[in-house]
Amino acid sequence: MIKRKHSGSDLTIFSEMTALAQKHDAVNLSQGFPDYEIDDRLKKLLGEGTLKNFNQYAPMAGLPMLIDNLVEFNQQRKNTLSVSKENITVSPGASYGIYTALAAIVNVGDEVIVLEPCYDSYVPAIEVNGGTPVFVSLKNHFEVDFEALKNVITVKTRAIIVNSPHNPSGKIWKQEDWDQLANIIDNSEITVISDEVYDLLTYDHHEFYSAFHHPKLRERCFSIFSFGKMFHATGWKVGYVLASEELSLAYRRVHQYLSFSVNAPAQYALAKYLEIFDVEENRKFMQQKRDFFLDSFKDLPFTLSEKAEAGYFQILDFRKITDLSDKDFAVWLTQNAKVAGIPLSAFYHETANTGKTRFCFAKKEETIVNAAELLQKALW
Ligand code: PMP
Ligand code: GLN
Repeated sequence: MIKRKHSGSDLTIFSEMTALAQKHDAVNLSQGFPDYEIDDRLKKLLGEGTLKNFNQYAPMAGLPMLIDNLVEFNQQRKNTLSVSKENITVSPGASYGIYTALAAIVNVGDEVIVLEPCYDSYVPAIEVNGGTPVFVSLKNHFEVDFEALKNVITVKTRAIIVNSPHNPSGKIWKQEDWDQLANIIDNSEITVISDEVYDLLTYDHHEFYSAFHHPKLRERCFSIFSFGKMFHATGWKVGYVLASEELSLAYRRVHQYLSFSVNAPAQYALAKYLEIFDVEENRKFMQQKRDFFLDSFKDLPFTLSEKAEAGYFQILDFRKITDLSDKDFAVWLTQNAKVAGIPLSAFYHETANTGKTRFCFAKKEETIVNAAELLQKALW
């Protein structure tokens, strides 16, 4: 028997709920992926990449034209992010970036702090690399409990994983949050692994602030991004990692021997697309989707405690409907109402009875309307 290397389940909740949705012909608002088309120009650029013969190994850190354009793109952010080429490593997706950052710095027996609820890849990635996850719960409205965080730090703490904007809640770390974290870890060797895949999808007055923006943290963090989320192309599995020269060196020491380099025609297409991509138009497009979702669901018997500040997802409370566990409710909803969501307990290491479901609103309006109508029929 092969010994398990991590405590994650063998089928992620996202695959499980998607399969259940398919089986019951349900509208799938569970796994986070768009059901609308990507920009035609991006499709054409991918073809162009291969026609222009970007078909052999790209350099290990990334295609120079993509790295140059990422320097420029980060410079052009509303809140400028100054990075140099040495800070950037292109990765085959953000999950790989998180895993590789952990592999680069974690030694057997090290502790890594995880803030729950959290994305499902963190804990297995820590464990496979010999680390021990140490859990700190976010507060009721998904704010960080910095007192609790301070209390779990030991001499063994090697890293903390932060996720802002946050999956599943859409909460964004404000500058003061980063200040607090920087103060807490000031006299330690703790590295921040910051999952920032929803950086461009921020709504209302909310602004994205990267760990790499922070003067005290930029020397001791990995900030990890995903073109899958930026350009609604989750199947492309390409992202990039920002880190100091020292941390980038450590990261590449592992990356060289894991995937070595990343899909070359995709890197060409992403580099070219960055030159024409309109960040504000993209942001508005997604904010409209969040608003459309909220408007379509407003008369259903869920309770909304907070609108998502960012990202692809909205959490809704279903306690007015039933006392079922969130997993049982998600299964019931998929089988009976024909709408699939993700039970919030899936983002915790211990079964929690959250009374909440996460729905993905990165969907066509007709999909959202269809889901709302089905729920209307099943729940009233
Ligand atoms: N982090 C978070 C918070 C995510 O929601 C996702 C993806 N859905 C990822 C990482 C993984 O990104 P990628 O597909 O680029 O590996
Ligand atoms: N990040 C996506 C989500 O949160 C899922 C990605 C996956 O299926 N692993 O829904």
